[in-house]
Amino acid sequence: MKTIGYAAQAATSKLAPFSFERREPRDNDVVIDILFCGICHSDIHSARNEWGGTHYPFVPGHEIVGRVATVGSAVTNHKAGDLVGVGCLVDSCHHCHSCDDGLEQYCENGFTATYNSADKIGGTPHEFTFGGYSNHITVDERFVLRVPENLDPAAAAPLLCAGITTYSPLKHWKVGPGQKVGVIGLGGLGHMGVKLAHAMGAHVVMITTSPEKGQDARKLGADEVLISTDAKAMGTAQNSFDFLLNTIPVGHDTDPYMNLLKRDATMVIVGAVETLKHVSGVPFIFKRRHMAGSLIGGIAETQEMLDFCGEHNITCDIETIAMKDVNTAYDRTVKSDVKYRFVIDMATLEEATA
Ligand code: NAP
Ligand code: ZN
Repeated sequence: MKTIGYAAQAATSKLAPFSFERREPRDNDVVIDILFCGICHSDIHSARNEWGGTHYPFVPGHEIVGRVATVGSAVTNHKAGDLVGVGCLVDSCHHCHSCDDGLEQYCENGFTATYNSADKIGGTPHEFTFGGYSNHITVDERFVLRVPENLDPAAAAPLLCAGITTYSPLKHWKVGPGQKVGVIGLGGLGHMGVKLAHAMGAHVVMITTSPEKGQDARKLGADEVLISTDAKAMGTAQNSFDFLLNTIPVGHDTDPYMNLLKRDATMVIVGAVETLKHVSGVPFIFKRRHMAGSLIGGIAETQEMLDFCGEHNITCDIETIAMKDVNTAYDRTVKSDVKYRFVIDMATLEEATA
């Protein structure tokens, strides 16, 4: 299937129009006409090869919402016209312990990511998967999510990564009423972390380097704002948090945050894939605190999150852009100059590639 999209041809080149092939639908495949795709900071890290291992040409995009165009003969869960989503995963082994537990993101034989992954299914001339900055995509029905029709499809797109990446650890560590929960970093992930922790009934503290974001944080559902560069305020807040969700996208000194935790409490890192700059044993040893990580979420949990957002009318705060403006949006995301997620309107793709 002829497909148009936007790709980076090298780590230093801007995204530009690119034509490629998607596989023809197999019996269990769903073909989706993409309506919207969010811009995750991971798209930028990958396009610029900041984590290493990016294969070019590289088509980003794993916050995909669209309508089903056609389905293969064996598809039972989706039909033409349905509003659906695709997140960071498009395939996994289906027989390891993690897949058996519905945790495909931890597949022991390696999941297939929506972009930049070796494509084990094949059916195209391309070796690696291409993401959602494109007009359509073919996906195994098991990795296609139902998006509640009451949600705005553009504002729902970032739920497929920013939403599930914050929902999953909040659920796993059983965040709820009576707990003081800190969300560190008010960006795409952080703003969803605040909304979701608030909806789960926690007392939410936005922990930010940007005092000017305080008012917004409260509108999103934060009960308090803590400025992480204010050493005095950070000192006063020590030993007071039941849980911390850390979305900082770069390596950093974790000690000041770890010291905010109560005894036995946990800080979960979802942002920094790179080396954490400074990790002292003291905050762990003296208060039996934990630091953990978390990767997106499994397919069943992603559906649970979408249904939760449908029930609570939760979507993302977005700025919709035309495809041709994607490079500017990348630069602005890196400068934290977006409230709080860019979403590409795929109706503008044809004009951008003409
Ligand atoms: P984003 O929109 O750029 O937000 C990151 C926020 O972190 C910024 O808005 C800023 O908030 C804060 N920040 C930035 N640089 C900082 C620094 N040097 N020190 C302290 N705070 C800083 O990014 P995102 O899309 O939310 O993604 C966040 C990270 O999660 C990225 O690295 C992304 O690759 C990763 N990610 C992980 C998963 C997963 O499964 N674990 C999934 C998706 C994304 P303030 O201005 O409020 O301080
Ligand atoms: Zn993402």
